[in-house]
Parts: sequence; structure tokens; C-alpha cells
Amino acid sequence: MTVFPSLARFLRRRRIPRRLIAPAGTCDAALAAAAAALPRETGGILFGYRAGDDVVIERTLEIPDSAATASSYRRDHAMAQRVLERQLESTSPHLGYVGEWHSHPAPAGASGQDVREIAAISKLSANPIALLVLRRDARDRWGLHAWIATGGVADQVELIDTDNSRAT
Ligand SMILES: [Zn+2]
Repeated sequence: MTVFPSLARFLRRRRIPRRLIAPAGTCDAALAAAAAALPRETGGILFGYRAGDDVVIERTLEIPDSAATASSYRRDHAMAQRVLERQLESTSPHLGYVGEWHSHPAPAGASGQDVREIAAISKLSANPIALLVLRRDARDRWGLHAWIATGGVADQVELIDTDNSRAT
């Protein structure tokens, strides 16, 4: 009778701690691209690896969208594939595609469509897929927001941004 509550606690602990980890400097390229693209959105893919339940960003790659607006960005699949293949040729084999990122010039977090899209991508993958949204506030500062999707279900997660307190 004492086993069940501790097992339930164990299962709860196992389920929850998924984080997106951005070691120092890894988001700089995305932040610079987001600032350069203003007033329009931009975005791209996240390159990195998985560590237990966590997703670790190694670098952010921009996939420009010439049709992007202040509130929409579409990531071109063929261009992303080419950029990814070039990265895979020149880096360590434990690194690969781990997710998507894009900027929000307006102070808005991930939209319902953003979350649905990352959930749909995760259905095609055996591994968790991350979404990083760079959200600009009224004072021109960028906040980073993270989601991780597995098997078609997306959850907002803690972002560990080791640079400073941009993560919210
Ligand atoms: Zn969005």
C-alpha cells in the first residue's frame, strides 16, 4: 500500500522536466537575424542535440522568407533541407535538427498556429521537437519562449538561457 503513492510521484517527476537549453551565445545569431529583419518576422531551424528529456541548442540557422510580413513567416522546406545538409557535413555526428525558431516583432507569444505546427512536425519524428519564439517587447527587448512537442502534443517548457534573463 505504500508503494503506489511513491510510484505515482516517480511517474510525475519523470514526465515533467523537459527543458530547452540555450548555452551562452547560441541564440545570438537568431537575435541578430530577428533585429535585421524588422519590421518583418524571420526564422529558421534549431541545430543541436537531445540530453535525456531536454533539448539543447547548439546553433540557430536562419532560413529567410522573402514573403514574410510583420505577423507571418513561412519556413521554406527545400532551403531548410539544403542548409541542414551543409551543417551535417561539417559537424559532429551527434548534432542534428532539433526544432524551429521564428521572431515575433509584435509583443505576442507563440500563436495557436505556431503550436499546432510544431505538434504536427513532432508527429513525423521519433524525437522531441522544440519551438523557440523570439518575442519583441514594447521597449525593443527580445524575450525567448520555448515549446517542446512529442508525438503530436506540444507543451510550453522552461527555457534555460545561460546568457542572461531573457528567458521568460
Ligand atoms: Zn509565430
